[in-house]
Amino acid sequence: MTHMHVAGSIHADVTAPAPVWLTRPEDVNALTPKLWSRTVHRDEDGVIQVGGVRLTDLAEQVGTPAYILDEDDFRARAQDWRSAFAGWTVYYAGKSFLCGALARWVDEEGLNLDVCSLGELTVALRAGFAPSRIGMHGNNKSETELRLALQQGVGRIIVDSSDEITRLEALCDELATTANVMIRVTTGVEAHTHEYIATAHEDQKFGFSINGGQALVGMFRCHHSPRLNLLGVHSHIGSQIFDTNGFEVAARRTLKLFSQFREATGIELAELDLGGGFGIAYTKEDDPASADELARGLRDIVEHECRAFGLAVPAVSIEPGRAIVGPAGLALYRVGTVKPVDVGGGVTRRYLSVDGGMSDNIRPALYAAEYSAALASRTSTAEAVVSRVVGVHCEGGDILVRDEFLPADVRIGDLLAVPASGAYSRSMASNYNHTPRPPVVSVRDGKVRTMLRRETLDDLLSLDAGLAENEE
Ligand SMILES: *Cc1c(COP(=O)(O)O)cnc(C)c1O
Repeated sequence: MTHMHVAGSIHADVTAPAPVWLTRPEDVNALTPKLWSRTVHRDEDGVIQVGGVRLTDLAEQVGTPAYILDEDDFRARAQDWRSAFAGWTVYYAGKSFLCGALARWVDEEGLNLDVCSLGELTVALRAGFAPSRIGMHGNNKSETELRLALQQGVGRIIVDSSDEITRLEALCDELATTANVMIRVTTGVEAHTHEYIATAHEDQKFGFSINGGQALVGMFRCHHSPRLNLLGVHSHIGSQIFDTNGFEVAARRTLKLFSQFREATGIELAELDLGGGFGIAYTKEDDPASADELARGLRDIVEHECRAFGLAVPAVSIEPGRAIVGPAGLALYRVGTVKPVDVGGGVTRRYLSVDGGMSDNIRPALYAAEYSAALASRTSTAEAVVSRVVGVHCEGGDILVRDEFLPADVRIGDLLAVPASGAYSRSMASNYNHTPRPPVVSVRDGKVRTMLRRETLDDLLSLDAGLAENEE
């Protein structure tokens, strides 16, 4: 979420003022429960523990930076969503974070799985995930992707364009098979979130627009195709959404399509997917609804709109990613440099440079996303001062946490933990500045397991044909 920054009154100690939304904590050592995974707490000596493992021990064992996933928390959240939406189908959105072990957790917790690339589909299949419980997304799926999905019997393909319908029909002919499809539509809903993650307003690349009439045309094409089995309609309105207003409009507009389709064909479609995008708390100010509250709201909305159109309630599915894996993860960094920077007017901002940065979390740079941080290796009795946590990369915008109250005595060697880092951190990580990507480890009952090992410099250099060791 983007917050306004104002000059505010300048504190007597001339450290930079907090933005208006950030309140001074009563106790800078306290951990706000909604930001952290369920097993997180401080040991008696002040070290943060997760899954029964002390973060100081973890840093020794796996190094920093590292992503840590709380397995119990992930499984509990998956269960929460599954039971809150009982009767509906929950697809975990693999793009938020996916690897072999995590695909197995999703499977064991009884959720279905969404993928949107050849890589994600391959991970899911190699992890043994049942193809029939996989949904395949993408606005420009290649022949290779579609062929693999068809050969493996992926449960549903969410069709995004008329070119894709053509491509899919040709492949079905070639493979002498049929495909279960949903039509992705853009409902014109603009989710109240950052512009680049609002995907249902009209001027963007995804789906068939309802306004222009393309949605119905696409539905008829699929319906009349001997190779395609049209299951229903899919809508995804954005990400990091906190209320159900946008879903209400999306449900009304998609179910109106159901009604129009019935008028033309006499057939009521069987399935509606309302997408994902359910928000989580990145800062104390974020107040996301629980899975139960959302389920109640969404069920009411769907039932109400179906009644209005005289439709039977279809089979409904949703696709949360962030809401399940986001809060389960934290990122762990070590402080390497502490720099008070004179920002003018006698005001100083504390810059804490850590050993990661925009290569392991691009969201602050990409979406102006706000995060929180806590001193993880100890507690402190020092005053809480507004600090900025930055990375090692050659960009001024290489910021991990723009504003956070941290103890004034944070020093070289301290560990900082950034909560709510399970989604879209490792999955969006890059090798900018030839930086190897950090590992993902899971913790549970005092045990640490590698989910994705740390990339090494040799991993990266092995791609470089111009280096002597790689010359043919
Ligand atoms: C990104 C995406 C999701 C998941 O979004 P979250 O914000 O992680 O819940 C679900 N469905 C589709 C189609 C998406 O593109």
